[in-house]
Amino acid sequence: MAPGIVEQIKKVTDRPIRYLVNTHYHSDHTGGNPLFAAFADIIAHDAVRPRLLEYPRTVQQTFPDRIKAIETEVAGLKDPADRYRAALLSDLDLMKFLLEDARAFKIETVAPPRLTFDSRLTVFLGDQRVEIVHVAPAHTDGDAMVFFPGEKVVHVGDIFFNGMYPFIDALAGGSENGYIKNIDYVLAHVPPDTKVIPGHGAATDLAALKRYRDFLADLRAEVEKAVKAGKSRIEAIRGIRMDGYPEIKPLSRTLGNEIAVTYDEVKAGR
Ligand SMILES: [Zn+2]
Repeated sequence: MAPGIVEQIKKVTDRPIRYLVNTHYHSDHTGGNPLFAAFADIIAHDAVRPRLLEYPRTVQQTFPDRIKAIETEVAGLKDPADRYRAALLSDLDLMKFLLEDARAFKIETVAPPRLTFDSRLTVFLGDQRVEIVHVAPAHTDGDAMVFFPGEKVVHVGDIFFNGMYPFIDALAGGSENGYIKNIDYVLAHVPPDTKVIPGHGAATDLAALKRYRDFLADLRAEVEKAVKAGKSRIEAIRGIRMDGYPEIKPLSRTLGNEIAVTYDEVKAGR
């Protein structure tokens, strides 16, 4: 998509593209880096560079065993309507995709960010101020949100999947509670008529982002209830439904990942 993005930018300005911000390391958000690196400086949180350069090897070393373990577990579950089984199958698909991605990885073709930051970085473009902020690990451990205060626009990356359940990459340091912290930060720091650009789904407004926060907080409350009732992780995945949010859809994923990650966090007191 990178050439198409450049084309679209050229339709609205004849100014050069000087900077590219990676909101996290996932390939659907960094795959265009080699094209942009020819003319732009790439900026990202400190954690993104090692994830791009070193993580593929970790994935190649550790995922085959993890995949085998999940396959063994799935083989023991026969009921096709079992929501836990569906969640495992969805995890399996994702891990296989990540493993293939890691195997195809060529270090000489990757264009990692050359400017990295810890908690925040401000870029001054003429009279325009651009604030790049890392609040807390949420989607991954290297999330960044980009604020354009003059334009009243915020790009929140994968802190927000508009109309979809979030995907929390716990293997890369993601956290459900972190999602809530990031959204709270946005809600507390921008004027109410700010436009919100999500990492996936259509551009929207703060009301939709607030609703997403409610979904995440309710999900956490449901998981807390299940933990208090002594339910296991598997029972929580099987039992929790988020029927009050019909507009937020599972798409290709089940609720398994979100419930499993939240369950582990609640159990660990995080
Ligand atoms: Zn992502």
